[in-house]
Formats: sequence, C-alpha cells, structure tokens
Amino acid sequence: MPDRPIRLVPTLRWVCQDDALTLLRDTKAVRVKGDRETLTLIASALERGTTRDELTLHAPADVIDAFLARLDAENWLSSELSTPEAPGMPWERQLGYLTLFGTEAGRMQERLRAARVGILGVGGIGGLVAQHLVGAGAGALWLIDDDVVATHNLNRQYLFSRKDLGRPKVEAAVDALTAQSEHTGYHPIRLAVRSAEDLSVLPDDLDLLVCAADVPTDIALICWRWAGPAGVALVSGAVGLGSGYWGPLVVPGRGGCLDCFDHAKRARMSPLEHELRRALTDPTPYSFGPSNSVIAAMLAHDVCQYLASGDCASLNRRAILRFGEGLSFFDPSPESRCPAHEND
Ligand SMILES: [Zn+2]
Repeated sequence: MPDRPIRLVPTLRWVCQDDALTLLRDTKAVRVKGDRETLTLIASALERGTTRDELTLHAPADVIDAFLARLDAENWLSSELSTPEAPGMPWERQLGYLTLFGTEAGRMQERLRAARVGILGVGGIGGLVAQHLVGAGAGALWLIDDDVVATHNLNRQYLFSRKDLGRPKVEAAVDALTAQSEHTGYHPIRLAVRSAEDLSVLPDDLDLLVCAADVPTDIALICWRWAGPAGVALVSGAVGLGSGYWGPLVVPGRGGCLDCFDHAKRARMSPLEHELRRALTDPTPYSFGPSNSVIAAMLAHDVCQYLASGDCASLNRRAILRFGEGLSFFDPSPESRCPAHEND
C-alpha cells in the first residue's frame, strides 16, 4: 500500500478486548488478534488519521500491510483525514453516512451537488424522490408532468397541500421544493410525454432520468428510447396493489439496457402472465400512502447512492417489495446487461 494518509471511515466502530481488535459496521466485523496495547495504538491512530509508515512503528511492516489490505478490501479506509463538514446545509448529517457507499464522503457529496436529474411524473413516486434528492443536495432537477393537483392525490403526494388544488403539479412542486431548500435549481416542464421525441425538452447531459410516470404503460421503454441514444442513465419505480418495484437502473455506457431486461422478463412469463399483462393496460386506480412512500423511498435511496458513488443495489436489476409479507427480493430475470450496448 502506498504511504498515503489513511483514516477509518467515520461509520466504523472498533473495540479492543482481551487479545483481539474487532472493527465493525452493521453486520460486518473484522477481528485481528495480537497484543492489546499495540492493537489499541494502531486503532487509535487509524481513527485519528495516520499513514502506513507511521503504523509500522507499532508492528512489523508485513503485519501492518496485511491488516490494511483487509480494511481496504472492505472499503473501510478513507484518504480524507477528517469527515468533511457542511455546517448549516441540509445535508450536514448525511456526509458521514455517505461512507456506507464509498470511502470519500466529500467527493460523493460533490457529485450529488453537481447532479442533474430529470423526473418524469411528479406524483406519488416522483414527488417523493424529488424531496429526497433536494434533501440530499442534488444540483438541479427537471420536473415533467402534465397533471394538476387533485384532492385524491393528497393520500400520498406529500409534496402538495390543499392550497395547491387545481394547480399544475410541476408549479406546486417547485414552490414546495424551493421552500425545502434553495440549494437546488428547478426546471418545471408541463408536458404529457407520449413518445421518446417528447423527451427532447430535456438536456442530454443529465446524470439520470427517473421515470415515475405510469401512463402509457410502456412509458419506461419510451424513456429508454430517448435515454439510451442520449447516453443518459435511467431508472423507474412503480407501485401496484400488493407490491411495488424499483429498478433496474441502467447506464448506457456501462452495458445496461432496458430493452434486454424487458425481453428477458417477457421470456420468463407464463401464458397466464402474458394474458394478464395484455388485460392490464391501465394502472390500478387505487393507491395507499404507506406502500407508495416505501417504494418511493427505496427508489430515492438507490438514486442518491448511484449519483454519489456510481453504484446501487438496483443497478441492472429490479427489486420487488411485497407489502403484506414485508418481503423484498430481486427479480429473477437476468441482469439487464446487453452485449449490443457493452461498448457504447
Ligand atoms: Zn439491449
């Protein structure tokens, strides 16, 4: 390991007991045996920030190198000698959290601050994703929706309130989001998207397009017809009756392809499922606030993680949540990778 500054990521905890040092985060732990005093010195130095050469004052170089390699493999070593701070910013408490996604919190927050995101559909899913993005410090949002706020939206579309009834959703959304934070730029576009050409209102250097619309039923594939050629990453999420899904998040330059995902998914469907798919041309008219919120939040989690780090659980695969069982799992369809797009 080169002699760069190193420090334990701030989300890591350690304890020295008997003849072992245990480092742990969530359900993951790494345990090293040795002299308690030496281990405490090493762990304390790593917590403060140190260098590999400084650590070799406490133990032989090969032992230190093996230990650091283990920590590095877990992404537990940062080169940031202090956790960046953002006093007075809405995302102040998020900076340390970001080290769950990578090692350099400051760089990940900068990526979020620079992020340019399109959201198609500012309703039950898109409105909540927008709120999470704004809270996380996203740079700019393009909000597309043709609808106006109705009373029956207020069971789940918490961006809106009674004073917004009858207003275009994109206008009411910008007011609510501006009240939440002035650190994001907003671009409201009142438009019903029916074809890929309609999406040419968006800049083609977006970092991500979030498809949160449910009409027409193939709206995600319509989005892909714009996003794929434009080289823009795309993700969608939706809620049905007893279940909802988010993903796959597909990145054109990295081999992702929504067409391939859709083909693979259709190939796995039984004749009954094909019949149901044909019969269910309209999304369900029924909705339930809590199940809507949880899907929107899981989608927003992956959107923010992807923008910060370039990775997330639903990259190239769809996650499904069944509300009645409290059960989430990945769609068994093959990953949405496409040989045709591998070298885009
Ligand atoms: Zn493909």
